[in-house]
Amino acid sequence: MSIPNADEQIAFLQQIQRLFEEGEFSATYKYALLLTLAELAVERGSDDGQSLDLSMFSVGEKFAELYWRQLAAFSSGQANTQAAVLHQNHGAQASVIQHLTEIHTDSQGRLPLARGHRSWGKQVKAVAGVVRQMPLRHLQVLGGKLQPFLYDYPCPRGVVRLKPGVSFLLRRYQSLIQQLARAGWVNHIRSNRLNAPMLGQVDDLESFMFGSSRATLIEAARVLAPLQDHRCFYCGQKIDQRAEVDHFIPWARYPRDTAHNFVLSHRGCNNDKRDMLAAKQHLDTWMERMLLRGNEIGESLAGKGFISDAECSVHIARWAYQQGVEVGGFGWVMKGETEPLLDDCLAVFARAVTPNLDVDNNH
Ligand SMILES: [Zn+2]
Repeated sequence: MSIPNADEQIAFLQQIQRLFEEGEFSATYKYALLLTLAELAVERGSDDGQSLDLSMFSVGEKFAELYWRQLAAFSSGQANTQAAVLHQNHGAQASVIQHLTEIHTDSQGRLPLARGHRSWGKQVKAVAGVVRQMPLRHLQVLGGKLQPFLYDYPCPRGVVRLKPGVSFLLRRYQSLIQQLARAGWVNHIRSNRLNAPMLGQVDDLESFMFGSSRATLIEAARVLAPLQDHRCFYCGQKIDQRAEVDHFIPWARYPRDTAHNFVLSHRGCNNDKRDMLAAKQHLDTWMERMLLRGNEIGESLAGKGFISDAECSVHIARWAYQQGVEVGGFGWVMKGETEPLLDDCLAVFARAVTPNLDVDNNH
């Protein structure tokens, strides 16, 4: 068994990147599972390109360790916040937390003591059961399709079997995966509204530092609504005051508020699209809007203080779609529907003759 070559390593990293961009993370379990596999690969794997069997118990135990610190109440120290255990889920508290709470209390938060607790084995098995039911099933679903690039699925009885080469790759790219997974986890906790009483207003932190305030986005919505005939950019249905300003090229890929990148959409459409690129049909609409009303949008939003550079916005979009096509990514069509991003997306840019773009190209 040989180790993955350079092309295979790049393909793996592209899959990991897609996992963060397109995977659905309704709870923090998937971040924890990825960290679990990466750490166990370091602790138990080798660099010879072999597959690696990890017992479900060892997976459950690592999982419990990763959540251990977060079983304690979090206290921000800020005024108007309360100390409490953070929510790992948008609905009811994650059951992994519930399984471990009693042991955490009995052992006063000390993990070595917890391992000697009479119910440690039983609860680790319960945690492993949750891992099997939830994140193991969902982690490798990208763009709505199961793509088992990390481990065999369904799992053989009692083990998680890392595919040949995966242990090598998780070991090699450990720090990258650690940082991505931890950052994703922190963001998930921070963006969960249930955590607001503990965190205070830090959910505004990123927009405060890098983005536009909610007030100016509301201004942008007022400008865009009549230009879109008060219809959702994506589904074409009527919108009301609760419409949201969406970043056509997702903020997660390119965190800048530029005028032409704003589209107005339903909150539901916006939430379902998440950090995905929009499918080709929406790209066509966006380019058409750019050609027909680019000047109007640019001038109106520049008046509200937004950066307006049509040519630059097209460059960014071309870059984003080029990336999407190269990694075999999927585009968002409508709620619950995605499709592969193909070369024809890039053709949109090739034929984008832009006679009226020069006007608001101010640099
Ligand atoms: Zn819509």
